Amino acid sequence: MFDNLSDKLDKALHLLKGHGKITEVNVADTLKEVRRALLDADVNFKIAKEFTNTVKEKALGQDVLTTLQPGQLMVKLVKDELTELMGGDAAGINLSGNPSVILMSGLQGSGKTTFSGKLANFLKTKKTKKPLLVACDIYRPAAINQLHVVGEQIGVEVYSEEGNKNPVEIAQNAIKHAKANGFNVVIVDTAGRLAVDEQMMTEIANVHKAIQPQETLFVVDAMTGQDAVNTAKAFNDRLNFDGVILTKLDGDTRGGAAISIKSVVNKPIKFIGTGEKMEAIDVFYPNRMADRILG
Ligand code: GDP
Repeated sequence: MFDNLSDKLDKALHLLKGHGKITEVNVADTLKEVRRALLDADVNFKIAKEFTNTVKEKALGQDVLTTLQPGQLMVKLVKDELTELMGGDAAGINLSGNPSVILMSGLQGSGKTTFSGKLANFLKTKKTKKPLLVACDIYRPAAINQLHVVGEQIGVEVYSEEGNKNPVEIAQNAIKHAKANGFNVVIVDTAGRLAVDEQMMTEIANVHKAIQPQETLFVVDAMTGQDAVNTAKAFNDRLNFDGVILTKLDGDTRGGAAISIKSVVNKPIKFIGTGEKMEAIDVFYPNRMADRILG
């Protein structure tokens, strides 16, 4: 995960660790390399610049040049800032409703259906949770089918209504069904399109308004880099979602989305997807991710 970024940051910080005497010039050179590594990882220019400026200010504030192990202190400052940029503490999901309603949003192919299954499976293992999956993609029968396949695989019931073309109604009926049958978590999978469009946004905004979910999650493919960040912004402007799910982190992603998304939409990444299997789900811990990136 993020091998290239890890390598580059390691090299950048090595520069500093290797020097006997550390000067302001070394620190400036190191930070220049750190910024370059972030830009190469597809982190937005402004964010990369702010990042290095903040680290520099902190380094100067802590008088990094006069400490015993300035290299180590710089690594720590970079790690702390990376953790902060990715969200600081881990953010949980709100399961206080009865049932708790979770709405999935995102583009087609981002991994919504797969993640809906993963989340249901994850919650099912907590003995007190009984999830219901809801198929609200009224355009693609294949998508409804896919959710049924996932549901069967993990032993979770899937609610769908053949022929009903009103996603608001389907979602509302599903919640009624959940209440009547003892399901305490309802995960609503919605239709996505290949790009942000007005009809999709209106549709999901209507579902959102009608069912008032405890959690609205935005699912995005980490491989899409800066586009992931732009799409997040478009969905957040419309839905004011609660958290981000970053999928396909097992792929050859450069890491820009993971690093930038929080500071652009000011919403935490809550889970990550690390494979196609139902078990390939992890809670997102910014500090663990920063540790991983900085080796
Ligand atoms: P949706 O259109 O948003 O519902 O997306 P899908 O759930 O159908 O996922 C699209 C494709 O991405 C499928 O082939 C999934 O198996 C795959 N996929 C989803 N999540 C992940 C992940 O975390 N890692 C990998 N490698 N593939 C994933």
